[in-house]
Amino acid sequence: MAKNIITCSFCGRDKRSAKMLIAGQSGHICEVCVAEAYKIVSAESETTQKEAARQSLTLLKPDAIKKYLDEYIIGQDQAKKVLSVAVYNHFKRISNSNNTINQEEIEIEKSNIILAGETGTGKTLMARTIAKLLNVPFCIADATVLTEAGYVGEDVESVLSRLLQAANYDVPATERGIVFIDEIDKIARKGDNASITRDVSGEGVQQGLLKLLEGSVVNVPPQGGRKHPEQKMVQINTKNILFVCGGAFDGIEKIIARRLNTSAIGFSSSMNAGEVERNNLLKYIIPQDLKTFGLIPELIGRLPITTFMNSLDAETLRRILTEPKNALTKQYQSLFKIDGIELNFELEVLDLIVEKSMENKLGARGLRGICEAIMLDVMFEIPSEKNPPKEFTITLEYAKKKLANEQFGNLKAA
Ligand code: ADP
Repeated sequence: MAKNIITCSFCGRDKRSAKMLIAGQSGHICEVCVAEAYKIVSAESETTQKEAARQSLTLLKPDAIKKYLDEYIIGQDQAKKVLSVAVYNHFKRISNSNNTINQEEIEIEKSNIILAGETGTGKTLMARTIAKLLNVPFCIADATVLTEAGYVGEDVESVLSRLLQAANYDVPATERGIVFIDEIDKIARKGDNASITRDVSGEGVQQGLLKLLEGSVVNVPPQGGRKHPEQKMVQINTKNILFVCGGAFDGIEKIIARRLNTSAIGFSSSMNAGEVERNNLLKYIIPQDLKTFGLIPELIGRLPITTFMNSLDAETLRRILTEPKNALTKQYQSLFKIDGIELNFELEVLDLIVEKSMENKLGARGLRGICEAIMLDVMFEIPSEKNPPKEFTITLEYAKKKLANEQFGNLKAA
């Protein structure tokens, strides 16, 4: 009898055509409607989350940004401070849609940043962590593969293709993203100083980058690579894209030292020799040094904020191993935990990892490779053991044995 047939209260499917009918207080729902409803709820909550993220951008104060950075990055206080303020101002500028304050026609300039520091000191990590915090698209581009249009290599626009891809082709999101351009020092103009040996016509690339940095509408090939006449271009306005340029600037210490010695104010008068940290000259970097190094003044002008990363000493490396939210040792411990094993490291093992990393001058980049070398065998063997232990401790003896055959020259990975 029709009266007794149970149907989905949403779509009307009856018991025979639905795989499942879930009973509620005064009706039923079939599996198809459950799936549909789930899709609607997820889409809706994603939109709400995105909106919330967008609104929260303006609420983050510099000290909150720095606190967040502290969770992931050890040390580098000065750079964190500078970046926190720069990012805060950047988002104030964005949220102030026409970039003017009140009635006064004051245009706030973009706060693109130069981060100088040896490789492996956390420059990329810094930019990536900020992008994560702000929930904006982020991409890394390598300045050394960029060339002037017409040469073999990538056009500068390919940098934006990557950002577009990172944003899932969402143009408005792309236009608020953060780009980290690595090895900006390698496109410095080749001066009399032969230490900069690349001859990729750095100046042309610098000129090319200018148009991205200064805030203009750029035609971007969505798939990256070379521009093809048949490829449809996407127009991206770079006005609100934040660029962070990192580089090791090998040899810039000499330039800084020379300037400090010769400058009338500074080194010899207001600072006495003892006050200058000779082994951390990067600390005193100013845009003028970048110019002497070979960046063109126009480019430096578009990167108004210059800051530096300290080189990592043993104590910092040791902290990097264990303290950040996603510290390496914590990562291995969670991997083992999934298999129900509690992983421990003898403290001496951590010292050994740091020592090897210092020896090989790999900075924090080397930590991962060394850890992998120690952990590989145990990670290979333990999962298939019949009776895996509940606990496993990496002892100094074990670590030394595993490292004995390693060629650390090859351990550049991270
Ligand atoms: P850079 O861009 O300066 O060459 P990266 O940001 O790529 O260096 O750093 C390499 C790795 O080293 C990062 O993934 C991170 O795990 C680690 N690292 C470097 N510096 C720090 C730091 N100060 N705090 C925490 N981790 C760091």
